[in-house]
Amino acid sequence: MSTIEIRGITKAFGPFVAVRDADLSVAAGEVVCLLGPSGCGKTTTLRMIAGLERATAGDIVIAGQRMNELSPQRRNIAMVFQFYALYPALTVGENIAMPLHREGIGKAEIAARVGRVADILHLGDVLDRMPGQVSEGEKQRVAVARAIVRDPNCFLFDEPLSRLDVELRHAMRGQIKAVLSNLSKATVIVTHDQLEALTMADRIAIMRDGLIEQVGSPHEVFARPANVFVASFIGTPQMNLIEAELKGYGNGKATVGFDQQDVDLPANPAVAALGPGRVTVGVRPRAFTVVPRDTAGTIDAVTELIEPMGAETLIHARTRAGGDIRVVVPRDRKVTVGEPLHLVPDPMQTHIFAADGKAVRA
Ligand code: ATP
Repeated sequence: MSTIEIRGITKAFGPFVAVRDADLSVAAGEVVCLLGPSGCGKTTTLRMIAGLERATAGDIVIAGQRMNELSPQRRNIAMVFQFYALYPALTVGENIAMPLHREGIGKAEIAARVGRVADILHLGDVLDRMPGQVSEGEKQRVAVARAIVRDPNCFLFDEPLSRLDVELRHAMRGQIKAVLSNLSKATVIVTHDQLEALTMADRIAIMRDGLIEQVGSPHEVFARPANVFVASFIGTPQMNLIEAELKGYGNGKATVGFDQQDVDLPANPAVAALGPGRVTVGVRPRAFTVVPRDTAGTIDAVTELIEPMGAETLIHARTRAGGDIRVVVPRDRKVTVGEPLHLVPDPMQTHIFAADGKAVRA
């Protein structure tokens, strides 16, 4: 069974801890993306799974077998790197066949397997060309073909699409996802591009400073971020994170003071346990209704900058307390710089984070 499990893995480079006590299970056929800002420990985690880096502590279990002491070759993993090097003097077909030659597989079997993966990745017409005679997207597909042509335990991808232009990336995301969905292998993809993670992953593990902050489906990490960091990292435009005062809780509602206004927001009873004090209220830019006038419960702001985004418009506004707020409205809602905005946050899409940054949940 193709599975990957990392249990409490840590990697220290001297005194610096690059990955700390990370746990993650990837099921057969599942694609998990490691997502996070530069330097958060994604590649180091992937390299420990591959055996290219030795874990300082913890266990790496692949297909049910503890792998910590095994060399990369003996882990039977296929890895696709950002800088996929194709052999320039070999044809596309020979490049794909390379890992099979190393395994001593017979000629007829090699031809059959290369033909099969070439079909899957739509490379049948370019098998006889040299790498210099194919496009960047085709080269990328050759790298993927070379990884899947064997029967590895699992797949590891390190920023596989970052060299491609935007359009090609978009197409390749779909193609790689479709290929992986038919292979029933555990797959880990490292990316710093949230769109890549949201579109390719079954689950996303979001990392910061060597720690896995949250693991969940793309929907979960978007709709139920575990803390302020995940809330700010996932979603474009970024979620508004507004400093506010929790004043009380009753009848299923939290009374929260923004600027000089008090707003009642449906909130779960765990909020009651917080008691009055500072909180951060998270509202996505698309989760406001703009109402005609300043009424009880509105957040009031003045439009400062207008960014057309095609079907929608992004408004940057300033609240009474001087904070920035981002609001997305449909394109046909006319808006002008200096215009006052009265905003009602959608209570069902409003998040309350405690002073320690964690989402308050029952
Ligand atoms: P990026 O998206 O920029 O590739 P990443 O999340 O993949 O970042 P890693 O490459 O895992 O980050 O690096 C995590 C941290 O560990 C970084 O601060 C990096 O400088 C450090 N690091 C990585 N390899 C070594 C090493 N061999 N010696 C010392 N520090 C290292």
